[in-house]
Amino acid sequence: MTETNGKLRYVPTTCPYCGVGCGLNLVVNDGKLVGVEPLKRTPVNEGKLCPKGATCWEFVQSPDRLTKPLIKKNGEFEEATWDEALDLVASKFKETHEKYGPKSLGFQVSCRTPNEECYIMQKLARVAFKTNNIDNCARICHGPSVAGLSLSFGSGAATNPFEDVLNADVIFLIGSNPIEAHPLAGRRLVQAKKAGKKIIVCDPRYTPTARLADEYVRYNPSTNIALINSIMYWIIQQDLHDKEFIEKRTVGFEDLKKTVEDYADVESITGVPTERIKEIARIYAGAKSAVIIYCLGITELTTGTDNVRSLGNLSMLTGNVGRPGTGVNPLRGQNNVQGACDMGAYPNVFSGYQKCEDDTIRKRMEELWGVTGLESEYGATLTEQITQCGDPIRAMYIFALNPVVSYPDSNHVMRSLEKLDFLVVQDIFMTETAKYADVILPGHPSPRRTGRSPAASGASTV
Ligand code: SF4
Repeated sequence: MTETNGKLRYVPTTCPYCGVGCGLNLVVNDGKLVGVEPLKRTPVNEGKLCPKGATCWEFVQSPDRLTKPLIKKNGEFEEATWDEALDLVASKFKETHEKYGPKSLGFQVSCRTPNEECYIMQKLARVAFKTNNIDNCARICHGPSVAGLSLSFGSGAATNPFEDVLNADVIFLIGSNPIEAHPLAGRRLVQAKKAGKKIIVCDPRYTPTARLADEYVRYNPSTNIALINSIMYWIIQQDLHDKEFIEKRTVGFEDLKKTVEDYADVESITGVPTERIKEIARIYAGAKSAVIIYCLGITELTTGTDNVRSLGNLSMLTGNVGRPGTGVNPLRGQNNVQGACDMGAYPNVFSGYQKCEDDTIRKRMEELWGVTGLESEYGATLTEQITQCGDPIRAMYIFALNPVVSYPDSNHVMRSLEKLDFLVVQDIFMTETAKYADVILPGHPSPRRTGRSPAASGASTV
């Protein structure tokens, strides 16, 4: 809804940066975006913005923005009309599909795009080209949260809102530095500290968030599972586990107990003395309500999904889930990581995590979309698609992502993109990845779109 005040218009939206999701108003003067101001009546940011949010409008009018479609001819980009660019994209994708089949196409979409765009990208891949080669960039940040939390709790999402940390007695942070990376979540931690909550920070680095901690545990990088398993071992040893909760609400306790028996002393792995782990186990398990917060220090590892599951186990072992001030909560890096996954921009599920391999679900989707022949097989993930460039993937559509900079091993990404017959990149700036494209489609920055039509947002002239 747009509010007006004299000449100024205020268009409510969400900050385009981190996953905290602060609400803000775009301030529009005479059709031009002139600033932002924080929404005051939202519990997320309570009238505050961090420096990233406060300046998130400045790039919109940058002279470097892409404004016209570009087609590469003889190694140089030339301006083209939308009809020329779209006709070329459509004909190349159609030709590749006819010649080499559904597995020859790849689609990648950013978690910075709204739900509607994530949905339409997966629909484009699945309906027009019958391929599940669609993925989003949660794959390389919080994909393990979706997988791990689904396996632990049946839902791949945070269990509690972030402001709920104020209802916890103990806040257990691991692999997370919100004071720097998620400043408005960090503000909640400062409030919690002032309210006398106990803060435990486990991190290989002594971060600004660690400075806030009552208990700081420095552990060796990538040894999360050994550390968490050892904490669980000492909770059980000290008879601090919640037997009633385990009995009524969980399965597999005996297996877990057996597994963690190997983790009594992990100092040689984690660098943390056993006495210190025992102490942390006592503090976490002794709290009436304890919440776990984690971030990429947990997920961006080959054991990411298991790291998340270990945190789920820790919370269930002590009955710290399903109540205010408890739970397991990932801090997401981009503003729509959850939505991109929920919308089915994933190689094995339709929207709502409905499995593509399930015949009944696939049939229902075929009826809804009015098509036949939807693919059942697991498609290629984001990073698999890069490895498959050239064989079998021949043509790729990259929407608002910059893999050359943000995926692992830039040289591998660059070499792979060069093997494609045809690459289309949709973005707002000429990125390092866009330089490899055959067609570049200029995108709209977030203030120009709400997921609905720009006109409906009231921001069409922004
Ligand atoms: S904390 Fe995150 S969502 Fe909030 S203003 Fe800063 S970057 Fe934007």
